[in-house]
Amino acid sequence: MAAYEYETHDYDVVVVGAGGAGLRATLGMAEQGLRTACVTKVFPTRSHTVAAQGGIAASLSNMGPDSWQWHMYDTVKGSDWLGDTDAMEYLAREAPKAVYELEHYGVPFSRTEEGKIYQRPFGGHTTEFGEGPPVQRTCAAADRTGHAILHTLYGQSLKNNAEFYIEYFAIDLLMEDGECKGVLCWKLDDGTMHVFNAKMVVLATGGYGRAYFSATSAHTCTGDGGGMVARAGLPLQDMEFVQFHPTGIYGSGCLITEGARGEGGYLTNSEGERFMERYAPNYKDLAPRDYVSRCMTMEIREGRGVGTGGDHIHLNLSHLPKEALAERLPGISESAKIFAGVDVTKEPIPVLPTVHYNMGGIPTNYWGEVLDPTKKDPNAVVPGLMAVGEAGCASVHGANRLGSNSLIDLVVFGRAAAIRAGKVVDADAPTPTAPTAEIDKAFDRFDGLRHADGSTPTADLRLEMQKTMQADAAVFRTDATLKQGVEKMTAIAGKMGDLKVTDRSLVWNSDLMETLELANLMPNALATIAGAEARKESRGAHAHEDYAERDDKKWRVHTIARVDAEKVDLSYRPVVVDPLTSEDQGGIELKRIAPKARTF
Ligand SMILES: Cc1cc2nc3c(=O)[nH]c(=O)nc-3n(C[C@H](O)[C@H](O)[C@H](O)COP(=O)(O)OP(=O)(O)OC[C@H]3O[C@@H](n4cnc5c(N)ncnc54)[C@H](O)[C@@H]3O)c2cc1C
Repeated sequence: MAAYEYETHDYDVVVVGAGGAGLRATLGMAEQGLRTACVTKVFPTRSHTVAAQGGIAASLSNMGPDSWQWHMYDTVKGSDWLGDTDAMEYLAREAPKAVYELEHYGVPFSRTEEGKIYQRPFGGHTTEFGEGPPVQRTCAAADRTGHAILHTLYGQSLKNNAEFYIEYFAIDLLMEDGECKGVLCWKLDDGTMHVFNAKMVVLATGGYGRAYFSATSAHTCTGDGGGMVARAGLPLQDMEFVQFHPTGIYGSGCLITEGARGEGGYLTNSEGERFMERYAPNYKDLAPRDYVSRCMTMEIREGRGVGTGGDHIHLNLSHLPKEALAERLPGISESAKIFAGVDVTKEPIPVLPTVHYNMGGIPTNYWGEVLDPTKKDPNAVVPGLMAVGEAGCASVHGANRLGSNSLIDLVVFGRAAAIRAGKVVDADAPTPTAPTAEIDKAFDRFDGLRHADGSTPTADLRLEMQKTMQADAAVFRTDATLKQGVEKMTAIAGKMGDLKVTDRSLVWNSDLMETLELANLMPNALATIAGAEARKESRGAHAHEDYAERDDKKWRVHTIARVDAEKVDLSYRPVVVDPLTSEDQGGIELKRIAPKARTF
């Protein structure tokens, strides 16, 4: 048994993560008078949410007619009929309320002439249940929407007396008899250890983009929540659905927001052709992301890529008025200059599809309560545990997320988790005590990695994983690449026992922290590639060349993956097809939105 001293903290709620989801949950919990702590490995306003550019979807109707039913329909269709209908209804219905709350909290949204919140078009957001023209539904604060939201929510959380534990790294959940009782953390700047006992632990740890070689996500997006959940013996859901954003800057992977196309930008190939007009006559450059990414890849494969290697595509903005670029897209104009050396008023930006978002995650209901669908009652919640934001899977994005639907997911479900906790957490009850045996077990794992003395440096193994995922679980997948990917990833995960950590100290030990992060990335990556190999159809972001069609009869099901070391066990559960309400839904029966082909 590893001997570490630790300090103990008691709270009603401990939120792990201070991105948009974690902060909205923290604020909501604190507002209700629950004693709330927020633990975060980076300073709150450095969370990846800060990088969100384009905006947040809500049917405010500020720029033309819109309705939450249309938003819901687009989300169902965007998900390629894999999202859960109850959660998607909740998202679209609550979105306007959640955005007005943000406005009242102080988010400095861009404005229309009349002073209303400015909204821009984004891919896949339409009118008339997909039959009408695109709608301007994405609320924006220039192209720095995530930045504005994060700063506002952090200020509001402090105002409501939430307590922050900044640069504390959550190591493991502390479970007892299937119930979460707290979380063990390592304070990065002084090496002390901390046990947080809590009536409710909320995982808001973000995505795991860094399982791939080229990603728009921050280096901190290492799927720590998924890793903790997998080690607690709980499953992950729909991990094979990884979104590639069409416009990562070629070479660096930095994002150019879809808002750039929303404001009138368009893609061209080596012949100068606006090729999206050919693939998607209706939506052109604003077709959903999975589809645009595939079209770009096909252009490159067929020899029409740009650049000396013919291996990327051009994004054109230079035809837009200079004032519009300066007012609406100042951030990406700067990114293009820094990362591609391009002046967007004069030249096109070189771009390539880049890993951007994880649709899969920790399965929850639409209140953020974690589920274990492998149990007899698949809807029974895991007591004491919630998951929100990109770490969770409610599931509203199904097989493909629409642009600007993540920021709204963060605030709607962060808020929902707080509303739910207000009902299920008894502020007067005594705080549970995390069991000592669990604490010892978590310390043992930590200590094992700290003293790891094999022959593979963490950075080398991480690179092997990232290159394998990039090559074998890519935009297009085949039986052969996936089979090879599963074999390679199993072997790579098997090398975790041969890691070499050189720094044994406890203060600012980035070598050890990156090793803990790699241990978290690994189960996420394994579940992704195993789930992809097993799914013999094409749906949303999962484009399988040997099974080009969607197969609703067999595969309209969520993948449930339990990961134990390098072993992945897969099972499936049905998609929720019934909405929450069957009241008049504005002219169309939303009762069950029957699957149909996604055309653009
Ligand atoms: C470049 C970019 C642009 C985007 N633009 C948009 C957009 O315009 N609109 C949109 O809807 N979506 C956008 N997205 C997607 C969206 O921004 C993300 O999905 C969302 O911000 C994720 O928020 P989150 O709160 O779940 O996690 P994050 O913001 O990633 O925060 C995770 C938090 O968890 C903490 N954490 C993680 N692990 C640990 C641990 N072990 N211990 C302690 N703390 C931990 C971190 O410190 C951090 O505070 C964009 C994404 C990217 C990458």
